Amino acid sequence: MTRYADPGTAGSVVSFASRYGHFIGGEYVPPAKGEYFENITPITGRPFTEIARGTAEDIDRALDAAEAAAPAWGRTSVTERAGILHKMADRMEAGLEKLAVAESWDNGKPCRETLAADIPLAVDHLRYFASTIRAQEGGISEIDGDTVAYHFHEPLGVVGQIIPWNFPLLLAVWKIAPALAAGNTIVLKPAEQTSASIHILLDVVSDLLPPGVLNVVTGFGIEAGKPLAASPRIRKISFTGETGTGRLIMQYASENLIPVTLELGGKSPNIFFEDVAAADDAFYDKAVEGFTMFALNQGEVCTCPSRAVIHSRVYDEFLQRAVERTEKITQGHPLDTETMLGAQASAEQYEKILRYLDIGRGEGAKVRTGGEKADLGGELSGGYYIRPTVFEGDNSMRIFQEEIFGPVVSVTRFDDYAEAVKIANDTRYGLGAAVWSRDGNTAYRAGRDIQSGRVWVNNYHAYPAHAAFGGYKQSGIGRENHKMMLEHYQQTKNILVSY
Ligand code: NAD
Repeated sequence: MTRYADPGTAGSVVSFASRYGHFIGGEYVPPAKGEYFENITPITGRPFTEIARGTAEDIDRALDAAEAAAPAWGRTSVTERAGILHKMADRMEAGLEKLAVAESWDNGKPCRETLAADIPLAVDHLRYFASTIRAQEGGISEIDGDTVAYHFHEPLGVVGQIIPWNFPLLLAVWKIAPALAAGNTIVLKPAEQTSASIHILLDVVSDLLPPGVLNVVTGFGIEAGKPLAASPRIRKISFTGETGTGRLIMQYASENLIPVTLELGGKSPNIFFEDVAAADDAFYDKAVEGFTMFALNQGEVCTCPSRAVIHSRVYDEFLQRAVERTEKITQGHPLDTETMLGAQASAEQYEKILRYLDIGRGEGAKVRTGGEKADLGGELSGGYYIRPTVFEGDNSMRIFQEEIFGPVVSVTRFDDYAEAVKIANDTRYGLGAAVWSRDGNTAYRAGRDIQSGRVWVNNYHAYPAHAAFGGYKQSGIGRENHKMMLEHYQQTKNILVSY
């Protein structure tokens, strides 16, 4: 076991500045109003740095810088942009431990995950878009013997991006990589709960980009996010966050006819068909592992498999095994490499989850394990830890319908295929889902019948850059990842030429 030292202490791989301004035009500037707020580590509940509290004036300054940089950046060759993205990937890879520990400290997630998943996935994303931009082609259509239509991909110009707190670095890179590859300049607003790790990322990569190409303004949603999303100076807003906030973003953007990409909430079903328990073998173990994915990232995942739907004939046996496996999840200090379950990202989120544990009990759900806060003692007693919780109930309950965003799974049963699909689709969301079956036909049919943008079959929580990701229904508009994302950051120019 390795235990990374706390940032800023002897032997640590990373230290934070005592205060961060906004990153605008290639340099740090103080906030226009001179105000800062505390950034707290959820590991101990203590503040560790101060973050600039952005307002409309800061957004305007960042838009000035992004507009000034846009023409030159948009005209760089794709080879040059791809080269820069590759260098950013190399730097992130070389800075893996520093970035991973910074992220865990800021967000509370185990470094086991930031080291093995968040940062490597972000690196892969940069490389993927560095490659796909070079492979992108325009088109030529012959109109008649003398006339030809040429189609070009052009950047949009300045784009706004707003991200949440659950994967601060990964989601920043998910947004930055395709937008930069496509030739846009960016004003990015991170979540107020986790605005520190992005500054470590800027330490690592920002000198690779011309000033003004990537600008970061920190602050609160209404004070800094709204002026960005509502600005007539952006050509697109890409937002990841709650469904309710997404609705507001769309309203602001509609005033200026700005296109939106919205990556919103979810309440993902995880369906276990009867044949999963046909043999006591590796497949059965894998399915049980798939059940426990509800606790990955402390359940703070938009695609958290927060509803488990199990066939009645195997329900008791499968659930018993899944509960026993859940009780073995190692909860502890996020900077220990053995830890699988860390701290919830903020006090607000922690309180919200505890309220849902009460709501679940209040509406008659049965707690099979967990159902309470975890007191890990010592310096962690001020942090935000919750025991992984398994509820049994039915799909009409609030704990099955509302996004809890914690290490909580609500379990119910089904009798036949039609009922499984009905339960899966009985939600306003449609982001992720999973189907576990040894039978290819059942898995394929369920994959098609579930109304969700991503259906995992016999796996969960894989996010390769080249697989499209996004929501059906109220889980969003548009897609991220995959080369199709480039076109979300481009507009088509047609030149019609008569010779
Ligand atoms: P949130 O909507 O509260 O905040 C997200 C971001 O929006 C933050 O930066 C916040 O400051 C900003 N914001 C808040 N109000 C705003 C406003 N009125 N105008 C402009 N900006 C505003 O979401 P959250 O609590 O930070 O994140 C959790 C949510 O994100 C969950 O619902 C989760 O499912 C969702 N999420 C979705 C995906 C996806 O890819 N679909 C990925 C991760 C998280």
